[in-house]
Amino acid sequence: MSVLEKFAFGEQSKPATGKKECLIWDREHETMPRSALEKLQLERLQKVVERCYNKVPFYHQQMDALGIRPEDIKTLADVSKLPFTTKHDLRDNYPFAMFAEPMRNVARLHASSGTTGKPVVGGYTKNDLNTWSELMARVITAAGVTPDDIVCNSFGYGLFTGGMGFHYGAERIGATIVPVSGGQSKRQVMLWQDFGATVLSSTPSYACVLAEQAEESGVNPVKDLKLRIALVGAEPCTPQMRAEIEKKLNVEVFDTYGLTELMGPGVGLECPYHDGLHICEDHFLMETIDPESGEVLPPGSEGELVLTSLTKEAFPLLRFRTRDRTRINQEPCTCGRTHARLQKIDGRTDDMLIIKGVNVFPTQIETVILSLPQFEPQYVIVVDRSSNFLDDMEILVECTHDVHEAGEGAMEEARKKLAHELHQVLGLNTRIKVVAPKTLQRSEGKAKRVVDLREMSK
Ligand SMILES: [Zn+2]
Repeated sequence: MSVLEKFAFGEQSKPATGKKECLIWDREHETMPRSALEKLQLERLQKVVERCYNKVPFYHQQMDALGIRPEDIKTLADVSKLPFTTKHDLRDNYPFAMFAEPMRNVARLHASSGTTGKPVVGGYTKNDLNTWSELMARVITAAGVTPDDIVCNSFGYGLFTGGMGFHYGAERIGATIVPVSGGQSKRQVMLWQDFGATVLSSTPSYACVLAEQAEESGVNPVKDLKLRIALVGAEPCTPQMRAEIEKKLNVEVFDTYGLTELMGPGVGLECPYHDGLHICEDHFLMETIDPESGEVLPPGSEGELVLTSLTKEAFPLLRFRTRDRTRINQEPCTCGRTHARLQKIDGRTDDMLIIKGVNVFPTQIETVILSLPQFEPQYVIVVDRSSNFLDDMEILVECTHDVHEAGEGAMEEARKKLAHELHQVLGLNTRIKVVAPKTLQRSEGKAKRVVDLREMSK
């Protein structure tokens, strides 16, 4: 399983229709004509390549091996001549060998959780921190947040980029920030009420937990809460999760995109038209590649997203392979932003499970579970290797209170229905165990949906 703290994104909901009010934080850069934007990108690309070549031994060696010098970058398309960076390269250079600045110029360090192996370490100069706050201000403003809002930030504070990323962004736009962090869900719901919070920021799975808690505390979101916006990120938000959060908390959900390797949240944002994630193209150069051959694909084709940081000082990255599958949409957006959008992700390339030779994405399973009214949005996928050395999968899923009350017959009925639906989608018979509501462990940050026992049984 991936250890990256990713502000990954799921399928977007249907585009909104009708004219909407669209707030834009940095109109000069976010609505730049394409030609001016590309000119700025090229200038910044040339600078960052020179910087990497001269200051990061890893890039110096890689570029020498490919026979590429900084001055060979004459057009944006020349980016394809540069070497890729993978998460293995980052691990090999742990913790600081990819930094382009001496430690005395590094103002802050963040890191991914690194549950397996070494974490990814991100370093920031003072300028990097300023850029980060600016980009987070764009993200938060795009959702319609203003200085009049009270933002309860439930992203974890600490080494994880989520908490501080949203914190400084909200502060930058002048909103009131409540650094509540993850955990103590009951208290969080109480604070929403007492403080009159209008905005919630959290992982989508924790937002679902908080919504469940609100329900349990007998809080009516329309009468008792002033929440109007939920900013989510760090894991995929499926349309079903989005609908669940919107319905139970009476909010409009805005997805975000980012990765620890690239800065944390702040790489991509969702505007009120909800039709893909605008990437801050003045700071990040996007490509999609064929994940097998590494060939650059023409715009609009589906492939693996590759990102180059254009302005980062401490920890610049050239052609970082995100493992996210996407399509880039360069069509201008109704919101006025000219920055291209990432569209419809089927899942991360490294999140994919191969069960009995069939490719399975956890988000496919989630979509089916959330489409059936008999189930709560709480499940765990346990992957194991059975005695005949074939990978095997069992899904533990909570039924609703009503189904549980109705007894074993109803639970078996629900299990059969889910098995049937999953077979339709995956073409695979899956073992399913239906459990009582509130029996699976809740997460206070990113939900752990897949438990892989294969590593242990090797
Ligand atoms: Zn837009």
